[in-house]
Amino acid sequence: MRDSDDYPGVLDAVMERVRSHIGEGKVADYIPQLAEVDPEEFGFAVATVDGGLYSTGGHASTRFSMQSITKVFTLALVMSISGGEVWKRVHREPSGTSFNSLYQLEFEEGIPRNPMINPGALIVTDQLLTDTGDAFGALQELLCVETGDPDLHADNVVADSENEHGDRNRSLAYLMASFSKMHNPVPEVLDHYFRQCSITISCEELAKAGLLLARHGRRADGSRLLSTREARRIMAVMLTCGTYDAAGEFAYRVGLPCKSGIGGGILAIVPGRCSVAAWGPGLDDKGNSVTAALALEAFTDITKCSVF
Ligand code: GLN
Repeated sequence: MRDSDDYPGVLDAVMERVRSHIGEGKVADYIPQLAEVDPEEFGFAVATVDGGLYSTGGHASTRFSMQSITKVFTLALVMSISGGEVWKRVHREPSGTSFNSLYQLEFEEGIPRNPMINPGALIVTDQLLTDTGDAFGALQELLCVETGDPDLHADNVVADSENEHGDRNRSLAYLMASFSKMHNPVPEVLDHYFRQCSITISCEELAKAGLLLARHGRRADGSRLLSTREARRIMAVMLTCGTYDAAGEFAYRVGLPCKSGIGGGILAIVPGRCSVAAWGPGLDDKGNSVTAALALEAFTDITKCSVF
């Protein structure tokens, strides 16, 4: 067993476990632009709270589509601005259904199960739009500052592709609007949501951004975005809901708060210690990256850095 502080050794061991699986899974194609990514790519990075950055996999600095991983950061922003307001509009329970399922939302009268699935994130973006007037801009700024990279931006081709093929998200948003749950015009909320999802980021950058949570709400410059309590709660929601209807499986296999996106990235947090980002474009049938999940499972196996 490796010492968990020997990160280069740990990363080599993670790579050893993942190597033969690279290329597995199916690249998301319901947003056509995403289907063009090479399924053989893989990256993995760890950023530690004391300033270390370690990576492996050959594509740790390659940017990929952040997609649903943005849901963690938009939630952090609304919690920092309007506190508990958002919890009047979205629950905190695992959904047990896919991230873009409609039927639970109809049954539960337009209140999404949690902010880590699409309808919940649409409510969060709606709230962020009310809170800031520019939900996309607020997210972009937060990520630029936390990664130290002023150049993080939306991929407008992906955003347009998602908009063009966005009938499912439009349905979710209008269904919530039919229950008077949306505060801003649906097209405007969707525009911000699609551009948020299309932000491209690398594993190294994402791991750095995740330190916001690993440091329990403290930003890169030492100031606070969130209280320790709020950060703890976001991580609780990630653990229980961050990988959609596979959250139980992830708690079992990885044992860390995680958030995945259909671009193939997964962000995992070891509270008080480090933030880990893994990326491989091939997804399983729940929409989680096959190789990123394997890498995170290997990481917690090797380091014993699980929250349990
Ligand atoms: N942009 C994607 C969508 O809304 C995000 C989904 C995801 O990453 N799971 O469908």
